[in-house]
Amino acid sequence: MTTGPGSLLIVDDEELNRDMLSQRLELQGYTVAAAEHGRRALDLIERQAFDLVLLDVMMPDLNGLEVLRLLRRQFTPVELPVIMVTARDQSEDIVEAFNLGANDYVTKPIDLPVAVARIATQVGHKRAQAALRESEARYALAARGANHGLWDWDLRTDEIYYSTRWQALLGYEDGELDPRPDEWLRRVHPEDIERVQTSLAAHRQGSTPHFECEHRLLHKDQTYRWVVARGVAVRDRDGTDLRMAGWLSDVTEGRVSDPLTGLPNRIFLLDRIERALERSRRLPEFHFAVLFLDLDRFKVINDSLGHLIGDQLLIGFARRLEGSLRACDTVSRTGSSPTLARLGGDEFTVLLDGMSDPSDALKVAERIHSELARPFRLGGHEVYTSSSIGIALGSPGYRRPEDMLRDADTAMYSAKAQGKSRSAVFDTAMHERAVARLELETELRRALEHDELRLHYQPIVELETDRLIGFEALVRWQHPQRGLLMPEEFITAAEENGLIVPLGWWVLDEACRQIGQWQARYPDVPPLMICVNLSPKQFSQTVLADRVEQIVRQTGIDPSSLKLEITENAIMSDPDLAAATLDRLRSLGIQIGIDDFGTGHSCLSYLRRFPIDTLKIDRSFVHRMDQDAKDLEIVQTILMLARNLSMDVIAEGVETPHQRDRLQTLGCEHGQGYYFSRAMQGQDAEALIARSRRMPGHLHGTVSGDDSAAVHTAHFPVEAGPCR
Ligand code: C2E
Ligand code: MG
Ligand code: MG
Repeated sequence: MTTGPGSLLIVDDEELNRDMLSQRLELQGYTVAAAEHGRRALDLIERQAFDLVLLDVMMPDLNGLEVLRLLRRQFTPVELPVIMVTARDQSEDIVEAFNLGANDYVTKPIDLPVAVARIATQVGHKRAQAALRESEARYALAARGANHGLWDWDLRTDEIYYSTRWQALLGYEDGELDPRPDEWLRRVHPEDIERVQTSLAAHRQGSTPHFECEHRLLHKDQTYRWVVARGVAVRDRDGTDLRMAGWLSDVTEGRVSDPLTGLPNRIFLLDRIERALERSRRLPEFHFAVLFLDLDRFKVINDSLGHLIGDQLLIGFARRLEGSLRACDTVSRTGSSPTLARLGGDEFTVLLDGMSDPSDALKVAERIHSELARPFRLGGHEVYTSSSIGIALGSPGYRRPEDMLRDADTAMYSAKAQGKSRSAVFDTAMHERAVARLELETELRRALEHDELRLHYQPIVELETDRLIGFEALVRWQHPQRGLLMPEEFITAAEENGLIVPLGWWVLDEACRQIGQWQARYPDVPPLMICVNLSPKQFSQTVLADRVEQIVRQTGIDPSSLKLEITENAIMSDPDLAAATLDRLRSLGIQIGIDDFGTGHSCLSYLRRFPIDTLKIDRSFVHRMDQDAKDLEIVQTILMLARNLSMDVIAEGVETPHQRDRLQTLGCEHGQGYYFSRAMQGQDAEALIARSRRMPGHLHGTVSGDDSAAVHTAHFPVEAGPCR
């Protein structure tokens, strides 16, 4: 394409005119040539390309109109714009010039700014047209070469030209589709339409150099095809869009296989399930199943051994799956071979087509489990893995292949919950649970936004003196319909869907704010303590220490009065990260307690390695300590261990005076439990603090061994709701 404002030819017999015009136009950046008569002009035009001719009408010999007539035999007004220069009042000439194909005119004496503006308009228009032709030619070429479908959208009339090939890509004959953008847009998959509109708009606003968008289009045969559309807008001089043109190409083939394993991908799989569904609707004896496989502990392997090994494991896993499916006689007996696909990440699926009996699906799953028992050798490592398998049995009741895949996924989830290397067959109860889980997630999100969470505070007491030393903050959910919900009804779900992280920050913030307020109102040495539970997910956040530091600073509490409760498993799942986090927390002066101690997978040598201040004996041991000698022994052992490691101990779940006395005799420093008080609302906790100042050492209520009965005491308000 030509650059710069353009090249002009001035045709005038008067030297003065030529010079004046040339100078002025050269100043504008044009390249200017001049001809003193018509013949010379034609001569020059033959040898050189001009963007525009400024042509004087009144010339001796060959006059301007005659030159124009000759020029128009060769060039259209678009190819070579001509502006006539006429004397004033020569309207006949002007009319004739337009009839002959002049683009515009100026009158003598020449008003230079007007002339310059008219020239610029004509040159600009010519440029735009040339660009359009150029891009059309380019696309036509590309379209022929690459088998693309061509489209050309006139944005002013909103008409769109679809080439024969374009229509054929969607299964239509030439002319079957209306030349309307809607023929395209209404065929876009509902999940993709927003993306298409956004990319179109982005390009038209000039924020992208071209429009390009991969999306699905509905084919005449009612399947979706993946296509890539690409195009450019052609704009006129003031940037107004004239048209947009480009190509469309079918990339379905490239989209059906997974680049890492070479296995078919989700799109391909869904297509196959769809076909199986169709068959099962016609043939009641046709059995098929979808197996949804998810590697157990893949993330751990990936994180510890690196992504390269992770990838190799996925490839190795795929190969082994293929091998085990080939070897499955249950499948090969039926004639059709299973389809193995990778959905992404560590998720794979097997479509078992045409089984002789639905139970074959379980046999195949068993076979896969046993195949995976052998370790993989990857880059010098011996890696053991297993998978959880969910099975959805084909039924004509499934309307969409996605539904069947979803159910297999739900079953996989349930298999995983049973432990590693398990299979589960989907049933409707699972579906209901999955729906309930989803609803809970939505509601919990809303709870976080609408401040529906509450903190209750359970007193922690020094056993020797019955003195109140602090509280454990326990979260509750004031559900607008279901009332006050206890953590067991939502914490596990929040762990699974990740909402535990924002929830945990809220708890930490609120607990510190509250204890700060109480510390200010009721100063004591040492200050009242607050224990806050941290979920393993939250504990593994790298920002944890920063966040804690920030909260402590903002609330102005003494860092040593904050005790974070974590579980043994949270530490053991990534001991290195845990060590780093705990060291940082320790350097901030924060205390760390191990919650539910004795129930997790503790490794005693690790305990020594971490800066831990407190062990909280799990309430199950305290509870059975009276009846079971073994539990008593465990409690004793924990106390001894703590003493050796210079940690202190809080016994959870103290319910009876006997338990309390026993623990005290054994040398346990602190206790927490219904014997003293249940968790209570903030204002009640504050009243308790105030009272305990007046009568220190009287902090226990009526005793009851029955957890579910509301235990009321004269002194301590208790909370309603189910208790463990
Ligand atoms: P936990 O941290 O072990 O908390 C102690 C639980 O034992 C509390 O149940 C408490 O009400 C209950 N409890 C206290 N004394 C007794 C007693 O004498 N007998 C019996 N049977 N139970 C007693 P809650 O409040 O239902 O909390 C249950 C669990 O939920 C907590 O166990 C903790 O793991 C989790 N949780 C509570 N709040 C939070 C939180 O803010 N964040 C996180 N991540 N988890 C929380
Ligand atoms: Mg706790
Ligand atoms: Mg506990």
